[in-house]
Amino acid sequence: MPSYLVTGANRGLGLAMVKELLKDPQNVVVGTARDPGRCEALEALTKEYPSDRFASVALNLLVKYTIDKAAEDTAALLPNGLDYLVNNAGVCHQNVVPFESVDMDVLVEELHVNTAAPLYLLQKFLPLIRKGSEKKVMLISSCLGSLEAAPMFLGCSDSYSLTKAGLNMLGRKWGALLKEEGVTVVVVHPGWIDTDMGSHIEDWVAQHAPETRKLPPSESAEGCLKVFQIAKLENAVEYYTWDGTNLPW
Ligand code: NDP
Repeated sequence: MPSYLVTGANRGLGLAMVKELLKDPQNVVVGTARDPGRCEALEALTKEYPSDRFASVALNLLVKYTIDKAAEDTAALLPNGLDYLVNNAGVCHQNVVPFESVDMDVLVEELHVNTAAPLYLLQKFLPLIRKGSEKKVMLISSCLGSLEAAPMFLGCSDSYSLTKAGLNMLGRKWGALLKEEGVTVVVVHPGWIDTDMGSHIEDWVAQHAPETRKLPPSESAEGCLKVFQIAKLENAVEYYTWDGTNLPW
């Protein structure tokens, strides 16, 4: 039975991915949240599904030991290893703040969650991924992390763009090495999604890219997971949008 771990599973895209995955009775799903016991949506899933189909695990990307503990807890839940790791949790605290006004302390926190912690998460979960049969990692990034596309997004979430460009580098460089040992890394832009995060750039989109469609989380989740599942080791490392088209790095 394929096993999945999704970070940031308590709301937004992460929760939508967990729900999408649970539709397939073959899948075993672990969803992480900072405080799963206080999340009604995860509690409801815990009641709805048996513990060998769905479990929630505590993980706060800002607190290193919770990542250590989450790796241990997941290893106990998945004795055959982890097939698919989805690094989804992320923050964007300075949506329309131009570089000139970016608060460095807030930027450091954004870098911690979006760039540094995913590196540590991968370090800690790699042994479990190596033990799994699929050996796949999806980094949920953003088109705002693309260096080539940057001129299209001036003034939109500038500090966040730095963090996602860093995440892309993590995926592209480490993914190229991991490919040699059979681990497939994909970097995916999930589209503009109707979530808390997505709602903060309404005005920018209306002004600069009014043709952009805001996706329901379920549609983005389905697309991202399809891209992840069909991704091939020989093509790693690729940067895709949720509908499978390639993005320029
Ligand atoms: P939301 O803001 O709706 O959800 C963010 C998730 O990340 C929540 O589960 C949140 O948990 C979790 N999270 C934040 N900080 C931490 C932390 N320190 N430790 C653990 N979990 C944390 O965002 P989306 O669902 O929209 O975004 C999901 C991913 O998609 C992100 O990586 C985002 O950058 C990316 N993305 C989103 C776009 C959009 O339009 N929405 C566009 C492009 C990319 P908590 O409730 O505890 O804060």
